[in-house]
Amino acid sequence: MRELTFVRSGRLTWHERPAPRLTEPGDAIVRPFIAGRCDGDTLPLHRPVSRAMQAGLTLGLIDPVVRGICGPVPFRGPFAIGHECVAEVLETGPGVTNVRPGQWVIVPWSISCGACSPCLRGLTAKCDTTTRHAGRTLAAFGFGPACGPWGGMITDTLRIPHADHMLVPIPHGVPALRVAAASDNLADAWRAVVPPLTARGGGRVLILGGGARSIGLYAAGLAAAHGATVDYLDASATRRRIAETLGARTPRTPRSLEASKAATTSPSKPPPAPPGSAKPSAPWRPAESAPPSATTSPPAPAYRSCTCTPPTPPSTSASPTPAPSCPTCSTSSTAPASPPKPSPPSPPTGTTRPAPTRPGPPRSSCDVTPSPRSHPGLGTSH
Ligand SMILES: [Zn+2]
Ligand SMILES: [Zn+2]
Repeated sequence: MRELTFVRSGRLTWHERPAPRLTEPGDAIVRPFIAGRCDGDTLPLHRPVSRAMQAGLTLGLIDPVVRGICGPVPFRGPFAIGHECVAEVLETGPGVTNVRPGQWVIVPWSISCGACSPCLRGLTAKCDTTTRHAGRTLAAFGFGPACGPWGGMITDTLRIPHADHMLVPIPHGVPALRVAAASDNLADAWRAVVPPLTARGGGRVLILGGGARSIGLYAAGLAAAHGATVDYLDASATRRRIAETLGARTPRTPRSLEASKAATTSPSKPPPAPPGSAKPSAPWRPAESAPPSATTSPPAPAYRSCTCTPPTPPSTSASPTPAPSCPTCSTSSTAPASPPKPSPPSPPTGTTRPAPTRPGPPRSSCDVTPSPRSHPGLGTSH
């Protein structure tokens, strides 16, 4: 089987390795068919940050926990990349009762048991079973060997330990592509805004977008959908327009941000959006698709390449097939239309796997707000 491997900044390649097998009664084997590119992947994929991070760790400018997650040499390739996916369950061990072959599931980015003390408190990224007892800071897919031997999610098949706890079946009626980032980014945005807005409704939310490019947009859409007044700041006019379609206001961006953007991009920078525009004139709306069903055959693997960031995508030896860029962060010509009623923002991270000649699932609208905390395997951040 193949898995996408990070070699170094700007270079990915396919790597052959033996297919994983069930090794514990609680294991499942899944087949990822939608994979998202996390905001956290963007940095090493497109910028050679390893030496700068090593210096930062040596000088104490970077939290030492990063050393535990990334190792003493951060992002040293090769390692299997990818930690957001939607997958089909192929096989389950005899101890698995919550999922069955044929189901579509969200696979959380971090690996946890669901039964230890940190897991029972909701701190699944701090799972004792998969981290402390194994001498690790974090157990996760797609971050390299310091996080364990689990591999990355852009792969033909993947072994999932503690499958009853880890795997989150996609609710009926929720198109799989809409929850492509629920493994991590969508959950991050949700936990940042929804719990406090639930506790204190009608609040105001300020989002400084652009660093974590998709998380900020997800947070804007979720906060607006939960009744907040949302101000979204970002140097990117494209993302500001998307934020407006999600119900956020986009006050005038500080000149310092604009100047910084201009210094790092082409001189043909688009003009900033008008200040205070609360309603979009041409909001984006995804196409419809059939809801997932455990009784229907899932689509053939169809991984798409997001073209949103940065301007120059990394080269890959696999020569990925160009595909529609993602709706939330894209600058592509994906046709906008009227916005859906309050709903989670569209998947911002495109998918990265080339393949197939067969089409992937179409984009579609979704009226269900995913609630990552409804499942213990989701909801904690790295
Ligand atoms: Zn991530
Ligand atoms: Zn645990």
